[in-house]
Amino acid sequence: MKFSGIRLKILFSLLLTAGVSFFFCRRGVPGLFFSLGFALILGGILANGIVIPIRRITHIARLFAGGVFNRRILSPADDETGELAGTLNEMAHNIERRVNAGETGSRKLSAVLSSMVEGVLVLGHNADIVSLNPTAEQLFGISRKDAEGKIFLEAIRNNDIAEVINDVYKGAGLVSREISFMYPRRGTFEVNASPIYDNEIVSGCLVVVHDITEIRRLETVRSDFVANVSHELKTPLTSIRGFVETLLEGAIDDKKNNREFLRIIQAHAERLTVLVEDLLSLSHLESKGIELDKQPLALKPLIDGIITGFSAQSKKRNIDVRNGLSGDVVIHADRNKIEHVFTNVIDNAIKFNREKGSVLISSRENDTMIEISVEDFGIGIPEKDKPRIFERFYRVDKARSRAEGGTGLGLSIVKHIVELHGGTVALESAEGVGSRFTIKLPI
Ligand code: ADP
Repeated sequence: MKFSGIRLKILFSLLLTAGVSFFFCRRGVPGLFFSLGFALILGGILANGIVIPIRRITHIARLFAGGVFNRRILSPADDETGELAGTLNEMAHNIERRVNAGETGSRKLSAVLSSMVEGVLVLGHNADIVSLNPTAEQLFGISRKDAEGKIFLEAIRNNDIAEVINDVYKGAGLVSREISFMYPRRGTFEVNASPIYDNEIVSGCLVVVHDITEIRRLETVRSDFVANVSHELKTPLTSIRGFVETLLEGAIDDKKNNREFLRIIQAHAERLTVLVEDLLSLSHLESKGIELDKQPLALKPLIDGIITGFSAQSKKRNIDVRNGLSGDVVIHADRNKIEHVFTNVIDNAIKFNREKGSVLISSRENDTMIEISVEDFGIGIPEKDKPRIFERFYRVDKARSRAEGGTGLGLSIVKHIVELHGGTVALESAEGVGSRFTIKLPI
């Protein structure tokens, strides 16, 4: 047995009491009273020395039980109560450290979930929503407050996702499915649902919803583009082959038609050249790391030059093309590319104009931007075609565009170049009234 702390104090008190009692008892009955009084006082002091620290320990231990871990028990006693206080302090310190680590971890986790572009839902035992991140709130048009605690299908009426979740709870493991939905947002989504296990039993489900609408759209655009290119190349090539065969089969000696056939072949070959040039321009503009050779560029003389280049076409149809730009309009841009922009837009304004029509080029500027408008009073663009007019190969009237030597790539090239310069291009048009293309460029 180790004699330390309280035990030593009690032993020491007992010995002292016994000694004092022996001393006083030898002096008869009054001595007995003295020794009794001494024992009581010593017992009281001894009890206080034990009870007071225990009370202090109990008070602070209650705070620990209530979750307050930043308090410590002050006990200078070098006995079992001091040891108990020290152990409780150490325990509180450890719990405090773990709680802090847990809180930091959960803050980090919630920051990660909040910044995720994927919608994340955590479901509990009965497919009830335990938590969801802001992206999931947006995707499903529901607030966290309204969703948490509800069964998935009660909160989010999407049977396809509910089916995926159901499969997970039935033990299918990780389930991935591509799902399209209309409400609250139309799109295509990849849904990945994985089980959360507790002792090898599925006790929940983690659902991650990834918006792949844009990826699917780009895939369609790419495959449409390949189909369009093939079609556009095939048409002139078929004609060229047909006329060459006709000539070879004897039409070469047909003095009346042979030149006409050769002219048709030439026109188709030229069309192929323009198409390939436009395709090369587009692929160059879309390539990463494209560099612009920006220089100060006076717009009025540039547009004068383009108008002169089109004078044969405009004269043929009696179209008046007017450059209303003032001589001091200077921008900082890539000359060749900006020339390409205005060549395409002015070409269209002449091509899709009416006999004796007119084209007006004007500008407006403020401290940072310049707006150049190319306005015609021609056939205009129908309302339904306007949103798609800058798409590659999109044409209102394919036959007319082809007859005018168009490729359907011009406006898409315009948009690319303007955006590369940090600008925008806008269209206002009414069918039968005319069109205005407004190009905004930083000065
Ligand atoms: P295209 O080579 O056919 O001119 P663009 O990409 O330049 O190709 O133009 C696409 C289509 O937009 C044209 O085919 C035409 O239908 C329509 N369009 C463009 N500019 C005009 C305009 N000023 N007026 C009427 N329609 C236009």
